Amino acid sequence: MIEKQRITEYVMDLIRIDSLSRKEKDIGLKLKKDMEEMGGECFFDDADKSVNANVGNLIVKLEGNKTNARPFFLSAHMDTVGPGEGIKPRIEDGVIKSDGTTILGSDDKSGLAVIVEVLRTLKEKNLPHGNMEIAFTICEEIGLLGAKHIDIKNFRSKYGIVLDSSSPSHLVIKCPSAEKLEFKVHGLEAHAGVCPEKGISAIKVASEAISNMRLGRIDFETTANIGVIRGGLATNIIPNYVHIIGEARSHNEEKLRNQVEHMRKCIQDAVNNYQLTHEGKTSGAKAEEYIERTYDRMDVSSESTVTKLVNEAVRNLRYDIELIASGGGCDANFFNKKGMDCVNLGTGMKDIHTVNEYLVLEEFYRAADILLETITLNAYNQ
Ligand SMILES: [Zn+2]
Repeated sequence: MIEKQRITEYVMDLIRIDSLSRKEKDIGLKLKKDMEEMGGECFFDDADKSVNANVGNLIVKLEGNKTNARPFFLSAHMDTVGPGEGIKPRIEDGVIKSDGTTILGSDDKSGLAVIVEVLRTLKEKNLPHGNMEIAFTICEEIGLLGAKHIDIKNFRSKYGIVLDSSSPSHLVIKCPSAEKLEFKVHGLEAHAGVCPEKGISAIKVASEAISNMRLGRIDFETTANIGVIRGGLATNIIPNYVHIIGEARSHNEEKLRNQVEHMRKCIQDAVNNYQLTHEGKTSGAKAEEYIERTYDRMDVSSESTVTKLVNEAVRNLRYDIELIASGGGCDANFFNKKGMDCVNLGTGMKDIHTVNEYLVLEEFYRAADILLETITLNAYNQ
């Protein structure tokens, strides 16, 4: 039912518009123009002010032709990671890829294109649908910040779909909670050759702490990572400062709490091991810690209306879909937290956040078919 040629050209057009996080204005204006041509009522919210972006989330309302149908929510994010400027997409063997020097940006331009194509098809073919409510978000890649700052009162929908994962064979209904952990380890600076006994190496303290941490996959629903470590100035200076940034995630709040406590304790224990008495004066290593909830877990029931609608759509189209838990967070985490049942349908994007990223066209079209069928089923779901 969808037009493959049109959706393919559209996603290529979107990919060619640079839209790194906080710089989504150009793509936002393009989407706004296209949605207005379809009769959409559009505005940018003021999330940009909270997150220092050059435009807010684009909120779109599109009136349905079935007045008694329940409203339906859709979302995809407008920003991409880097390297993502001057992307040159090309089609090869059923996939779209970049020239290998940049990411492709099918994360999440494939989601944007699926939404626009499905809405176009609904309008053109006058298919039954209720009121559609859409959020094209900013700053997903830097902590789901657009969705975090969205005012849910803009929407009347009780449920919907985010299009931002890898395969339409999967429907993500569970995502973990995540904590960001930041430690600033302070040692004591000294000349490494002249008076090393006066120094405490922040690098040694930090490395001892990290080597004692349980990291990586902790269990089937819990992970942890130290992703950034910075410190040191020169070989002849005992370093007095190291900055460490990491994260922990779990589908289980208690396990997440335990993991965070464990990581904090490793830092504290290492700091306690490096206290120094020099000429009667005791001084030692210190650590500052900053621990912040990045997002809360989501857990949509397999019996929820939206999950059932997608399942029914997939059956009607004779595809298969599996309900899964993801190890990653997405904008749907915040929509769920704000009270909307939101699942995440994949669009065919692969190897995202690398220069090898590609979009499988067959899966991309399939996601659009599933979405279109789900929305028309919703028109009759009283
Ligand atoms: Zn994404």
